[in-house]
Amino acid sequence: MTDSLYRETILDHNRNPRNKGTLEPADYSYEDVNPLCGDEIRIDMRSDGERVTEIRFSGRGCAISQAAASMLMEMVEGLPLNEVKAIGREDLLEELGVPISPARMKCAMLGLKVLKAGLYGASPADDAF
Ligand code: ZN
Repeated sequence: MTDSLYRETILDHNRNPRNKGTLEPADYSYEDVNPLCGDEIRIDMRSDGERVTEIRFSGRGCAISQAAASMLMEMVEGLPLNEVKAIGREDLLEELGVPISPARMKCAMLGLKVLKAGLYGASPADDAF
């Protein structure tokens, strides 16, 4: 049943969040909130200039926001930066594998929003490599 699968996936990532924590120092850190729900996500990332070498997230909020951020960590660790920049809403929704109602869309997409904002904010530094 879709509903139990939904709960299982979300609960698993909530119980065992992947790459939860912080990096000190990080090549970039960025955080944002979803005021509609009270979700907070911070992402710390290290890069060798071409790939994501290490990534961690921290924060709190509803199950969907935290599980989606955890899934995102698995998707992007080790990926070339240009592929990370190409990840879209549909890719993350596919990874979530369950229907997300319009009301929860901002929860599901908060981690991706933080990741993208941080990456584009960090891109001038990429010229240093
Ligand atoms: Zn939420």
